[in-house]
Amino acid sequence: SSPLASDALALLHRVFGFKTFRPGQQAIIDAILAGRDVLAIMPTGAGKSLCYQLPALMRPGVTLVVSPLIALMRDQVAQLRALGVEAGSLNSTTSPEEYQHLRDVLRAGEPLLLYVAPERLARPGTLEYLARHPIKALVIDEAHCVSQWGHDFRPEYLTLGQVRQALGNIQTLAFTATADTATRADIEQRLFPEPPERFVGGFDRPNLFLAMRPKTDTRRQILAFVKAHKGDSGIIYCASRAGTEALADALSVSGVRALPYHAGLDKAVREANQDAFVAEDGLVMVATIAFGMGIDKPDVRFVCHANMPRSIEAYYQEIGRAGRDGLPADTLTFYGLDDMRLYRSRIEEGAADDDRKRLDIQRLNALFALCEAPRCRRQTLLAYFGETIEPCGHCDICQHGVVTTDATVEARKVMSA
Ligand code: ADP
Ligand code: MG
Ligand code: ZN
Repeated sequence: SSPLASDALALLHRVFGFKTFRPGQQAIIDAILAGRDVLAIMPTGAGKSLCYQLPALMRPGVTLVVSPLIALMRDQVAQLRALGVEAGSLNSTTSPEEYQHLRDVLRAGEPLLLYVAPERLARPGTLEYLARHPIKALVIDEAHCVSQWGHDFRPEYLTLGQVRQALGNIQTLAFTATADTATRADIEQRLFPEPPERFVGGFDRPNLFLAMRPKTDTRRQILAFVKAHKGDSGIIYCASRAGTEALADALSVSGVRALPYHAGLDKAVREANQDAFVAEDGLVMVATIAFGMGIDKPDVRFVCHANMPRSIEAYYQEIGRAGRDGLPADTLTFYGLDDMRLYRSRIEEGAADDDRKRLDIQRLNALFALCEAPRCRRQTLLAYFGETIEPCGHCDICQHGVVTTDATVEARKVMSA
């Protein structure tokens, strides 16, 4: 390997205290050190920060990192300083002492990771100030915020293309966990004058068993699934608030400890149910998609969808809440034409513009196609994300082959309607 690559490994050990690179990190770091623009797409927790932090230490000058949340910035800066790395942030909470310190570091031209809020960059004077210093790279973290097709659009991110220009078209590195192809294309087009080198990786969660089944007698099927997981903590996702309460009741009646969770419940009830789920073993949370973000429970042993999710991304996020501890976990998704009809009418009656609606319908159809695809679930799922694998041996189709139903023919009609 090149001398740079071995320097990177040495820094990984010495500064960050890690033994090896995670999947994908090495290739991204090599591309960055070779001066290329990069768009890296890796799931949450894969270790995207290290991919730009490590190269930042290998070259003098400033690596400017745009990050959407002050809390995220503060965390990262504190972590880097604890490792002995020069880092700082420019946002509404930056103190005068901090400014002075940053000025000194900037003047000395040492490697510096400077986090900055996008709205701060838009403020008059900030760019002029930065442009007087050796800025060597612009990093855009959570880059999906630039896209209106994403789930977290930030208008301030739209100016980042101009920021790049104002800084002399410096090397630009974008990071996101988004899997959605429309959002990815939008990110590329908005942030890069030329297509960047694109990396996709780390989406596979090999400890999750993947299964999808057409609905027949869903209530009975779900009860059987939950009983087969006696004593395990799990999440069952439903499409409606009423659905969560009805199913939680049915489970309770049959002796399973289950609680509902949805945005319509009293805040106190919601919090109590969530706390119980995190604290207890063997509790089943029957929830709408309002549940799950930011919940830290590594030993969720199963995730079941009583209704089909609305997109492949949503499906991936939701099953991804199982088995965070790396131990085996089970997932089972029920799908049906009633779900397709429900979501289609929700999309059509929604307030979004026509382009957005068309995309949401496409996303819905893509998930239905995944449910119906007669090949390895994992292969099909990862192909959507841009990764290629052999048949996994750890999904319902690899293990039992394809089960065809009468629903299939009618489904084609609904999708093409
Ligand atoms: P992402 O931004 O992709 O969601 P982070 O950059 O926040 O993920 O990293 C997630 C965690 O993984 C952090 O705690 C980080 O320290 C850790 N991590 C990153 N790279 C490595 C590595 N090579 N070995 C071990 N841990 C790592
Ligand atoms: Mg991150
Ligand atoms: Zn498989």
